[in-house]
Amino acid sequence: MKTKLFLKSLLVILLIIAITPATFSQDKKLPNIVILATGGTIAGEGSSATGSSYTAGKIGIESMIDAVPNIRKLANLTGEQTVNVGSQDISVAVWITLANRINELLAKDDVDGIVITHGTDTQEETAFFLNLVVKSEKPVVLVAAMRTSTALSADGPLNLYNGVAVAASAEAHGKGVVVVINDVILSAHAVKKMLTTPVHAFMSPEHGQLGTANFGLVEFFHEPHGVHTVNSDFSMDGIKELPRVDIVYGCADMSTDLIDIMIKAGAKGIIIAGVGDGNMNKGTLEAAKRATASGIPVVRATRVPVGAVLIHGEVVDQDYGTVSSDELNPQKARILLMLALQKDKDMSREKLQELFIKY
Ligand code: ASP
Repeated sequence: MKTKLFLKSLLVILLIIAITPATFSQDKKLPNIVILATGGTIAGEGSSATGSSYTAGKIGIESMIDAVPNIRKLANLTGEQTVNVGSQDISVAVWITLANRINELLAKDDVDGIVITHGTDTQEETAFFLNLVVKSEKPVVLVAAMRTSTALSADGPLNLYNGVAVAASAEAHGKGVVVVINDVILSAHAVKKMLTTPVHAFMSPEHGQLGTANFGLVEFFHEPHGVHTVNSDFSMDGIKELPRVDIVYGCADMSTDLIDIMIKAGAKGIIIAGVGDGNMNKGTLEAAKRATASGIPVVRATRVPVGAVLIHGEVVDQDYGTVSSDELNPQKARILLMLALQKDKDMSREKLQELFIKY
């Protein structure tokens, strides 16, 4: 009887030992993630739960974290308020502050990843800039929301939850800067805001999504396109500001003096959001030729939402000294040109074209 009891107790003890590692693994040290908050609709407050009028950048980072159930189970979180603005007011100065802080944080052994809360309007630009100047393989994730924190069915809390899950995941290492929104993971190179107000506004029409984040379940399916982060030729070394680069929007019968006006105002480079395949009317082409002849680079992007601009398509770039933006939309092409000019203000047309193909 005693032996039976002993054997039974032994079995129970063995069982406890067998299940203990699983129990411990749930308690294992969580990754340390820093959330840098910049404002946007995710931190916005509306006049009512169903009204469309609101002010972006009202809620502080601590309240945002506290509004997300179970988020502290994913990671040890620290929040920093970088700025609190609508992303229409994000400036080069904010990019520089963010990039320097991210590089500083990610160099620390006790920081495993970064989440940036941001407005949706210029989110792809901040993501692309950081993708070129962050020097770490650790995850950097931008999250945003299409609905304010006070709206009916606010999307911010789940986006933040998924963003932290991606930043805390081993799979996100080496993927460059990513955007997590509406359950998808999109690369900084490919992400575009395609719709003005619905929650599925963000897509990567040329390359598709890198993966999904579903209530914290992170899955990556693809590698990002383009060189980024630790392999980028760019860095924050010595960057205090960036040269002015302006965007000219193409249309039928467009004013042909816009390029000259911008250069007169101080632009060191011009991006054309051209019609079709980076096209523009004759007068603007002549203005582009004048600009490139005087050493001001002109890059042909397109106002068409999806697709690359062909090098030597209907416009033969060599004839005008212009460069094709390849896959970069005008706003991302502007960032690459600013960084390129900051590195070498006399960069040759050929070298510049190589950069647009590479990034
Ligand atoms: N204007 C807002 C912003 O970009 C829009 C948003 O976040 O959805 O900050």
